[in-house]
Parts: sequence; C-alpha cells; structure tokens
Amino acid sequence: MREYAEVIIDLVSNAVDQPFHYRIPPELRDKLTPGMKVKVPLGNRGTEGYVLRLLQETTISSLRDIIAISDPEPVLTGEQISLLHWLSNRYYCRKIDALHAMVPVSFRQGKKPKEPQFLTASPSAAETDLNRAPAQKEAIDILISEGSLPRKKLEELGVKSSTIRTLEKRGLVEYISPVYSRVNNSEQKSATMPQDLQTEQAGSFKRISEALGQNKPKRILLHGITASGKTEVYMQSIAACLERGRTALILVPEIALTPQMIEHFEGRFPGTVSVLHSRLTPAEKALHWQKIKSGEAGVVLGARSAVFAPLSQIGLIVIDEEHETTYKQEEAPRYHARDVAWWRARHHRAVLLLGSATPSLESYYGATEKGDLLLSMNARVTPVQLPPVQVVDMRQELRENHRKIFSRLLLKELEGVMERDEQALLFINRRGFAGFVLCRECGYVVRCPSCDVSLTLHLDRQLMCCHYCGHEAPVPQTCPDCGGIKIRYFSAGTQRVEDEIKKLYPKISLIRMDSDTTTSRQAHSRFYHQFRERKASLLIGTQMIAKGFDFPDVTLVGVVAADTALNLPDFRAPERTFQLLTQVSGRTARGERGGKVVVQTYHPSHYSILAAAAHDYRTFYAEEIEKRRQLAYPPFTDLIRVLFSGSDEKAVFEAASWMTALLEPAVESADIMGPAPASLYRIKDMFRVQTVIKGEGLTRISPAVKKVIRAYHSYKPSWPVRMTVDFNPLVVL
Ligand code: ADP
Ligand code: ZN
Repeated sequence: MREYAEVIIDLVSNAVDQPFHYRIPPELRDKLTPGMKVKVPLGNRGTEGYVLRLLQETTISSLRDIIAISDPEPVLTGEQISLLHWLSNRYYCRKIDALHAMVPVSFRQGKKPKEPQFLTASPSAAETDLNRAPAQKEAIDILISEGSLPRKKLEELGVKSSTIRTLEKRGLVEYISPVYSRVNNSEQKSATMPQDLQTEQAGSFKRISEALGQNKPKRILLHGITASGKTEVYMQSIAACLERGRTALILVPEIALTPQMIEHFEGRFPGTVSVLHSRLTPAEKALHWQKIKSGEAGVVLGARSAVFAPLSQIGLIVIDEEHETTYKQEEAPRYHARDVAWWRARHHRAVLLLGSATPSLESYYGATEKGDLLLSMNARVTPVQLPPVQVVDMRQELRENHRKIFSRLLLKELEGVMERDEQALLFINRRGFAGFVLCRECGYVVRCPSCDVSLTLHLDRQLMCCHYCGHEAPVPQTCPDCGGIKIRYFSAGTQRVEDEIKKLYPKISLIRMDSDTTTSRQAHSRFYHQFRERKASLLIGTQMIAKGFDFPDVTLVGVVAADTALNLPDFRAPERTFQLLTQVSGRTARGERGGKVVVQTYHPSHYSILAAAAHDYRTFYAEEIEKRRQLAYPPFTDLIRVLFSGSDEKAVFEAASWMTALLEPAVESADIMGPAPASLYRIKDMFRVQTVIKGEGLTRISPAVKKVIRAYHSYKPSWPVRMTVDFNPLVVL
C-alpha cells in the first residue's frame, strides 16, 4: 500500500522548490493517483499542490496528512510529470514554473470546460422595449434574425462584450447548447484534397513515411527553399501518421497562425484538429486541453506552448520554420520548443520533422554530422522564380559623395515602382538598437579581440565594451583599419527612414509598421489590409514585415541597412542576417510582375550577405559552421548565461562576483566568462551584468550549477539583485 505522496506545492517561490512528503489518509488511499491536484497543509495554513508520485515509505518523520483531493481528474499525465523534472533540470527553473508553463491556468484551476454555448434571444426579449438602448437592440435583432450564434461570432459582428453581459443580466439572452460534438466546428469547412506531390516532395514524403513506420525516435530536417511545398509534405505526413493510429503535433511561429493557415489544416483533417492560439479565451483553452487529453483531437496545431499539448500516442511532431527565435521562451522556464519536442519524440518513439528554408546551425549540423536525416528540396513548386538580389556598397556611395541613407540604386528602383504604380517594402532591422561603432569610409566595425563580437558603445562611460568577456576599449577617434576620421555610432530607425522618404517624395503614400505604430493586433491587421488593398505604395517596417506578408504587387524590397543585424554583439549575428535577408527577399517576386531586392550594406563582401544574395544556404553554412568550430560556440558547445540585474550597480556586481566565485570550482572543465556588463548594460534603470559558462555537453554540470543556484538563493544577501539562468540562450544582449 502506498501511504505517502510526493507533492509539489503550487507556490512560485524558491523556498518550496522541492517536493514535500505527505501522508495519505486511509480514506484517500484508493483514490489518489499521481498528477492529481490536492489540498495540503503548509506551515499554519492550507495550500494546493500536485502529486508527483506515490511512495511506499519515506525517511521523513512526523508527516502531515493530505487534506483533500481538489480534482478527481489528474491534471498532469505521467509524461508531463517526467517532463516537468527534465525541464527544471535542463532550464534551471522551479518545478512549479515548469508545471505552469505546461498546463494552461484555466485547466489547472479545474474550470470545468463547457462546450461553447450559442447565444439566442430569450422569449422576453421580443416584449422588451429597447429603443433607448440601441446597442442592445442591435444585438437582439441580430440574434433574432440568425436564430442563434456563438458569442464570439456576435462580437465579431461588432457587439461589445459589455453589451452582451448587460443582456445576460437582464435575462434577455440565454445560452443553448447546440450539437457541437467535435473539437471545432470544422466539419462545416470544406475538405481539401491532397495534391499530387512533385518529385522532391515525393522523395521527402517517402523517407518520412518510412521513419513513421519504424516506431523509433527519429529527427528529420526538411530543408526546402521557400515555395518548395513543405506544407504539403507536412500534411501528407500527418495523414500517414493518423493512418497508423497515432496523433500529430504541428508547431508554427505565432505570426503564421493566420485564419488561412488554420482553415488549411482544418480543411484537410476535418473534425480532428485542435488549434491552440493566443486569441483563445481561458475557457476555450481549457476546453481544447480537455479534448486533446481525452483523445478527441488527433491533430494539434499551435505556437510554441502547444509543444506541451497532452496528446497521447504521438507519431509525428512537425516544427515549421524551426529556426525562428520565437520557439525559445524568454521567461522561466526558458525552454526551446525544439528540444522539448525532441524529448517528447523520444518518449513516444515518434518522428520529429523540422522544416525551414534557412535551418538553424544546430539543426543543419545535426542533420549532416550527427546522424539526423537530411531531406532537401531545391525546386519551387510554383512557377515564380526567386528574385535577383543586388548588393549596394554604401562605402562606395559615400566615396562618391552620396550621403543619404538611400543609395542611388535604391532610389532609382523606388522611383520605377512609383512610375509603374506598383508597391515596395523598405525594411529596417530594429534589433540594431544596441548600436555599434562603424567607420563610414571602410566599413570597419570595432570588435573584441578575443570574442569576435562587435563592441558595444556605452555612451554614459564613453567606452566600448565586450559583453561576453568584459574587455573594454576607448572609442577611437580615427579608424584603426583605414585611418579615416568618419567613425560613427550607427543606427537607423524606421522613423528616420520615414522622414527621409517624405522629404524626397512628399506625395508618396506610405505606411510605417513598427512596435511604436503597431501596438495592437488590430493595428497590425489594419495596416496589412490597407497595404493589400493598395491604399499605400510603400510599406516601411521592421521584422514585423519580414514574415508571412504575401503581396503580389510588391516588386521591390529594399533593405536599408543590412549591417544592423550583422554587427549585433552576438555570435549568432551572421546567422540572423542570413535568415532575415532570405526572408525579406521572399516578400517580393510573388506575382506575375516579378520583383527585385536591393540590399544596402557596408560589408558587401561579408559571406552571409553574399550567400543570402545568391540564395545559397549551403555556402553560408559551410563558412559559419567553421567559425563556430574555431571559436567553440554552439552547436559545438553549450552556453549557460547567468544574468544579474538591479538598480544598485555596486550590488549587482557584488552579487555577480559572489556567485561566479562559487561557479568556478563547480563547473571544472567549462570556461567561465565574466562577470561582465551585458551588452544592454542598463535597461529601465536596471544594471545588467552577466557570467557566461561555455563548454561541451553542459547538461552534465546541471546538478553542480543547481547547487550553486540554491546556495545563492539561501544566502540572503543585502543586495536586491535579480538573478536568472538561461541554458543555451538565443540572444545574449
Ligand atoms: P513552403 O512551405 O515550402 O514555402 P508552400 O507549402 O507554401 O511552400 O507551397 C507553395 C504553394 O505551392 C502553395 O500554394 C501550395 O498549395 C502549392 N503546392 C504545394 N505542393 C504542390 C503540389 N504538389 N502541386 C501543386 N501545388 C503545390
Ligand atoms: Zn570579448
């Protein structure tokens, strides 16, 4: 008989970040199972927790009893309990943080999910005079003419949710439960048929099907240029997986979860797709979760956090655009969906299919040198060709006395677009906010002698600083390379580009999309539609416009400054630059009119710019992987970044030094860099200092690092400093 239970307390606190033992009172013994939510005593009050396992014995004496079972249905599956331990070890998070990330709050709170209800006008509505309440009247009129509608539909028709609430209170509307049997009402959507695969698609599909038949964990990278038809390969692979009686999980970047995309999947797999997107209400999320858990959904489509969807019998996990940084969560648990997906694929003996036109170095390395399967698709299924890319040397422009932020070529092309009444995109990389010091005559950028990242200017101290190792240097007055005197702090924002364009072409109609102008989803979609409907001929924007935008009349894409991405003080800068340029290039030549790309740069011969211009991933990879090998960066090593931040500069450094001193003996064979100021040294009056551990196979030092973290938390120093640990961070700014 198992008389004891190991329970994780549902409090986000380091003090309770280890499982506690409780006695199971006799009356609960045949009811309690792992994964259940329970009430337990803690100190002199009651709290809630989750049962991780049942125990026959315990060495802990004077145990207290579990008070009650909060929910007879286990919140966690056995798989999730294992995953929780793995997440907390791999990503140095509290177990409860892992649990919270894995299970939606609405589901944890046992909100018994209701079937979506349809609203209908109650009989009394017809007798009530609503002439003095036009909003309510309109809602009732809609309901009377439609019979019944899902609440959400009604809101989409312009009825405010406050109006609906008022109507509910007045008893003028009521909810009815229509026949709503499946996960979504996707049966109503027309089914779409599989396409006949083209040669490369068929070849890829064959290998994926074989892997599905082997019942062994297998990681496959599908490297296919844009429009090579990857989505069709995913869909047919999913169908093959379902035929084997297994389920499938598909992850896409949040931005790609458009209604068209959703329809596409629901149309192909009617009645079995559960879509997890950020627009779901908490109750809807809980409902989906319930249906996934009960086995009703065979296919789950969602963004990053959908990687935790409680599917059983997974046969296939697809990660589309696997190189996207949005797959990494930037708060605890700082997990990467690709790694979680691989954990689950191993657990289920499933296939993990990673797809991209610009694979991450990690994945391509895995596929070429670590035994994963590489599938390549180099031909487009559509007749449209990849656009020609012209690289403009901005140093040359300057030498010939053209000092504008736009080159003569870009202006000429832009004027051509206006004459022909077509559309253009101007792209500015906002990630360049860190800034760097550049010689405008030769393009030289001041770099760290030992880390090969650009030095960041700290204006307040008039110093340039390496945020990896702490190396500092004064700002040069002349260029160390060519002796020129036009050394500048470089940054070009969207606002500046907009102003310059307006000066040059006062009559041009333009839209600017960046995080200042586009704070809401609605603004995003409004701008999108305005541009699509040709209300403007020029769209100026950041990353935001690099992905997914599909405008047939865009015949020109201008990259104002490719260098902002290239000179970020981050070893992944060339990789990001290549990905970004490839993505941006894909925004043109989508219609019959074709298109071209103009890339402005101070580094016209940089390999990532040249390779992107030639649409040549392999050449880029060959250069970049060699560099990573030489400098011992991922994928050859792991990084652990420990970041300290606080408003008291001295305390932040003290805390960082204290912990770094503890880490040094704990991590023996790895390199410790720092403590050094982070490249973004000061954010919102918080000083940021970091220590980076670099070495091969760092998961093995996890227990030692965890011990140091515990020591840090239990040593209650006077410094008010926040400390976070990030395993293999994607951005180290
Ligand atoms: P990728 O994901 O590789 O960028 P997509 O999956 O978006 O490419 O495919 C581009 C277009 O080609 C889509 O409109 C898709 O419907 C179409 N397509 C894909 N495969 C085929 C095929 N075998 N025959 C005809 N059209 C196809
Ligand atoms: Zn350095």
